Amino acid sequence: MAKQHTLHCSFCGRNRDEVKILIAGQDGHICESCVEHAQEIIAQELGAYQDSPASGIPTGKLTVKKPMEIKKFLDDYVIGQDDAKKILAVAVYNHYKRLNQKIDNDVEIEKSNIIMVGETGTGKTLLAKSIARMLNVPFAIVDATVFTEAGYVGEDVESMLSRLLQACNYDVAMAEKGIVFIDEIDKIGRKSDNPSITRDVSGEGVQQGLLKLLEGTEVLVPPQGGRKHPEQKLVKVNTQNILFICGGAFAGIDKLIARRINTHAIGFNVNKALQQYQEENILQFVNAQDMKAFGLIPELLGRLPVITYLNPLDAPTLRSILTEPKNALIKQFTRLFDIEGIELRFEEGVFDFMVEKALEYKLGARGLRSICENILTDAMYELPSQKVKLFEVTVEYANRKFNSSKMSMLKVA
Ligand code: ADP
Repeated sequence: MAKQHTLHCSFCGRNRDEVKILIAGQDGHICESCVEHAQEIIAQELGAYQDSPASGIPTGKLTVKKPMEIKKFLDDYVIGQDDAKKILAVAVYNHYKRLNQKIDNDVEIEKSNIIMVGETGTGKTLLAKSIARMLNVPFAIVDATVFTEAGYVGEDVESMLSRLLQACNYDVAMAEKGIVFIDEIDKIGRKSDNPSITRDVSGEGVQQGLLKLLEGTEVLVPPQGGRKHPEQKLVKVNTQNILFICGGAFAGIDKLIARRINTHAIGFNVNKALQQYQEENILQFVNAQDMKAFGLIPELLGRLPVITYLNPLDAPTLRSILTEPKNALIKQFTRLFDIEGIELRFEEGVFDFMVEKALEYKLGARGLRSICENILTDAMYELPSQKVKLFEVTVEYANRKFNSSKMSMLKVA
């Protein structure tokens, strides 16, 4: 007797009456939930491939990873700064969770714009850039100091969105999910405590302009940036889902924090070790109140609810920055020599020499590149014309080249 064959999904095995739709294939069937599931798998797989599109223009496909995965990804590019990575990972994850939430929900998750405090060259931009690279969304870096209040010489705050539009070939929908990194936010502090004397067009005026952008509103953006003018065609961009990450050095903020904290640490039983730890890692206690002292208005700080900090870079961190990140400087130079068919080697101690110079000249991580350039330029100039297969940089060579460079004259007292 022929076997009674009920129609069922060949993937999950559910019968015809257990599913809504059963699509027939050549010798099998698939139900609607398996189609959905398959679609998710495809989106995930393709998303992974689209992490670094060949064109360099983000595809807009959101590849959101879990916070721990985000942190792990950042570890490949940024050394140390664990607290900042963790806070950023959670903030970005929540932000994109918010983007994907169903609109009809009663609870509306608010935007979590971020502010990062840390000395220049500690990796603020690098962190923001790495996050944008991972999420595959348009990313723009702007400098807060170029903006002025509308009507004055300078750029309108809206022009920061022009950069975002340019980063994604003027695809408005994509720009509306992008990330803007506003650098030097500490430089637009209110200039005077008395707001009535003169208009503060590059300080408080800019902060006021930023308020509505940060909160989420529809803005008319000049596509080419700069100042808006009447005959210009403007593009409407909604900033509701744009994540703003602000960064600033806030020079001297440590003293403010110390003063605030020490007021609580008076007494006979003060734990010395704890106090020393607090002093060495004072930035971790930063809060909005400290930034207010730099002239940031409370309304603006209120729209930057996530605050994080970056530690100053010490010698071991600088040493790791030289060799460990995915595109570490030494890896880049080795590759440059490699293309030439030359193996580049470094004698033990050369990296420490570079770090020592970066610290000595107070150049931070940014200076490492110039130091490498100064040491290796002559070799990069001469070796391509010679038949050399191996080039070893010794400490003596590094020292000689560095001392004969212009950079060695720049030493700060
Ligand atoms: P800023 O804090 O001023 O925005 P950047 O992020 O622009 O500093 O850092 C300048 C350069 O220094 C980066 O391009 C990067 O090469 C290097 N750098 C700084 N901090 C780190 C870090 N923690 N890990 C790896 N590289 C770093």
